[in-house]
Amino acid sequence: MSRTVNSFCRACHACCGVLVDIEKGVPIRVRGDKENPLFQGFCCIKGQNYAAQRNSPNRLWYSQKRQPDGSYLPIPVDQAIDEIAVKLTSLIKEHGARSVAAYIGTFGSTSSSANSVMSGAWMTAIGSPMTFTSNTIDQPGKFVAAALFGRWMAPSHNFLQAQATLLIGMNPLVSMSGGIPHTNPGRHLTDALKRGMKLIVIDPRRSETARRAQIHLQPKPGADIPILAAMLQFIIDNELYDAEFVADNTTGLSSLRAALEVYTPEVVTELSGLDYEQITEAAREFATAGSGVATAGTGPNMSGNTTLLEYLVLCLNTLCGRWLRAGEQVTEPATLSEFVQPIAQAQSPSPEFAYGFGEQLRVRNLSSTAAGLPTAALPDEILLPGEGQVKALISHGGNPVSIWPDQVKAIESIRALELSVQIDLTMSTTARESDYVIAVRHPLEMPGITLTHEFMNSYAPGFGTTAPWAQYSPAVVEPPEDSDLLEDWQFFYRLAQRMELQLEATPILWHGTSGIEPWTVDMTHEPTTDDIFEFVTKAGRVSLEEVKQYPAGAIFADPAVIVAPKEANWEGRLDLANNEMMSNLMRSVHSGETKGAYPFRLVSRRQINVLNSSWHDNPGQVRGDSHNPAFMHPLDMEALELNNGMGISLSSEHGTISAVVKADKNLRRGVISMSHGWGGLPEQDQAFRDIGSNTGKLISNDSHYERYTGLPRMSNIPVAVKLLNESSSSPPNSL
Ligand code: SF4
Repeated sequence: MSRTVNSFCRACHACCGVLVDIEKGVPIRVRGDKENPLFQGFCCIKGQNYAAQRNSPNRLWYSQKRQPDGSYLPIPVDQAIDEIAVKLTSLIKEHGARSVAAYIGTFGSTSSSANSVMSGAWMTAIGSPMTFTSNTIDQPGKFVAAALFGRWMAPSHNFLQAQATLLIGMNPLVSMSGGIPHTNPGRHLTDALKRGMKLIVIDPRRSETARRAQIHLQPKPGADIPILAAMLQFIIDNELYDAEFVADNTTGLSSLRAALEVYTPEVVTELSGLDYEQITEAAREFATAGSGVATAGTGPNMSGNTTLLEYLVLCLNTLCGRWLRAGEQVTEPATLSEFVQPIAQAQSPSPEFAYGFGEQLRVRNLSSTAAGLPTAALPDEILLPGEGQVKALISHGGNPVSIWPDQVKAIESIRALELSVQIDLTMSTTARESDYVIAVRHPLEMPGITLTHEFMNSYAPGFGTTAPWAQYSPAVVEPPEDSDLLEDWQFFYRLAQRMELQLEATPILWHGTSGIEPWTVDMTHEPTTDDIFEFVTKAGRVSLEEVKQYPAGAIFADPAVIVAPKEANWEGRLDLANNEMMSNLMRSVHSGETKGAYPFRLVSRRQINVLNSSWHDNPGQVRGDSHNPAFMHPLDMEALELNNGMGISLSSEHGTISAVVKADKNLRRGVISMSHGWGGLPEQDQAFRDIGSNTGKLISNDSHYERYTGLPRMSNIPVAVKLLNESSSSPPNSL
C-alpha cells in the first residue's frame, strides 16, 4: 500500500518541508511540498534524493567491528557498546578523561536535534573537555569576531526588506546557506531584484549568484580584507554611515579610521587587482541603500584571517546601521528554540571568551574559542605523545578522513588511536579507518524538529529565513526488521549506562548561555527522542505540543515579536576598534601574494548536488560526474597546453594531488577552483577520475593558520599545475 506523509529534509540546516511517498514501508520519493507556507514546494536535488540516500545499497544495517586483518564483520550494537565502554573506562583510568575526544560534523546537528544534547552530556559526564566540531574548520571567525565586537541584542535587517545585499565569497544559489534565505534562494533573489534590491557580489569567480548581481567585483582571491578596508574608509570619509546609531551605540570610530589609513588606493588596487573606483562604487551603493546586510562565506573565511574578516563585516553592517531598532517587528523570531526578547541595545564585547580561554591545547598555543576547540589541531593532539594525549575518538555526523585539513596527517592520527569509533550511515572513508562503526538510523527513520533551521537565524547577519516556521516530524519509516540500528543519541546514552555515568543534559545553543536548568536524565529507563525534544524546546515561544498539531509545519507569527527599547542607563557599546583586530588589520596590509613556484591560487567551490564528502556514491546526485574537476580559466589552460579532461597534478608547498582539469571562463585568471571532501584514502589516489581528489592533502595544518582559531589556510592556496603523466604508478603523498 502506498501513502504520502509530511516530513522535512535534514540533509542540511535548511530543514525544507517535504512530502515522502512510501510504498510497503519503504520511502520511494521525496519531493517539495507546495502547500508548505514557507518553502512553497522548494526541495533541492539533495532533498529529492533523500529516499535514495536512505535506501542506498551502501547503507549500513548493522554495526561493524574491524578484524585483525583489516576487514570488517557485523557486530550486535549492544555488544559493540559493551566493548567500547570497557576500552574507554580503561583509557580514562590510565590516561585521564582528556584522552577521549569527540568530533561532531555537520550532520551531528542537522540530522538530529537530540544528538548534540546527549553527546554533550556524555562528554561532560566522563569529564573530558575535548569536544571538537566542524565549526572550527568552517567559519569560526563569525563567533570569535562577535565576542570581540559585541552583540546587537536584536536581529539584523531581514532579506525581505533589504535594499542592498553584499555577498563576500558566497554563492547561496548553490550553497543554500546564508546571504539569501535558504527557503528557495532563487525565488527570493528574483523577487528582491524585481522590487529593486541591489545585489553586490565579491568573488574571484563569476558564480551562479554573481551572474545576477548588478555589481560584481572579481578580485584576486584572498583580497577581501583590503576591499572591506577600502569600503569602510570610503564610507567613513564620505560620511555615508549612520552617524546617530554609531554615536549612540559604538565606540572606536576614530581608531578604526586610523587603522584603515594604511589601505591607500594604490595598496588596495595592488592587493585586490581591482580598480579602486569599482570598490568605492560598491561601498556607496551598499551604504546609501538604507537596509540590507553584508555577509561573508566559506572561501574568504578559509583564506587565512577568518576573525578579522568577520570583524570588518560587523563593522560595515554596524556603521551602516543594519540592525533592527526599537518598535520594529522581528521577521523570524525563535519558535521552538529558547526565546529571548530582542532589545535595541548593544551587548558589550566579551574578549575574554573570544579565544585563548578554557582548555589549553598542547600545540601552537591554541585553546578554546567562542567557536569551540580548534579541530585542525586535533590530529596533533592525537599524535603528540605525553600527558593529555588523545587516545580515543568518537566521531559522529562527520567524516574526518575526507574533511579535516591535511588529510595525510588526519589519517595518520586516526590510525594511531587506541580506539576509534565512527557513527555512520555507510562505510565512509573514516568508517574504513575505524575500530568500530556504529550503524545508525537515517533521519527519515527518526523523529525530528526544525531547530537547526532556527539556529541559522542567529548564526550571523544575513543568515536565516523569512518567517517563524517550525515543524515536528515523527519517524516516517522504520528500518528493516532484521536490522540493528540506533539513533545517534542512543549510542551515548547506552554508553553512559554501561559506564555507570549519570547524564546531566543541557540545551545546545550557538550563542550565549541557556536559561534552561540542566536535566538529570533517568539512567534506568531510556528516554524517548520526544522526551529530549521536550527538554530542548521547553523555553520556546511555541510549545512542541502545538507544533505537533501541524504535520506539515506552520508559521507561528502570533503574537508579533517587537524589538523593545533600550533599557534605562544601559551602557553597552559595540567595539569598532578592538586592539588586536586593529593591529591585525595594519599587519594584514603586508600579506600580498607571492607567486614564485606556485603561480595559481586554489579556491573552494560548493556544489548543489552534494554536501562536503556525502553522497558521492549516489548516481542520482553525481549524475555521471563522479569526481571533482579542477576548474581553470580557458586562457590559463591554453597557456599550459591543457585540454578539458586531461589529468593534471596540483602541488602546494605541502602536498600534491591529481585531478581532472575542466575549463571555466567564469574564473578570474590565475584561479583554480575545486570542491573539497572528494577522493578516498591515499592508497586510492590513482582513482581520481572515478572518486575525485582530496584537496585536504594540499593543506598544512601547522604552517599557515589563523592564530586565534587555528583554522588553516584552506582556500586561496598557492599551487602549481602540471600535466600529469598518468602512466606513472606512484601516487603522490602516500602514507
Ligand atoms: S536545501 Fe537542504 S534541507 Fe532543503 S532540500 Fe536541500 S539539502 Fe534538504
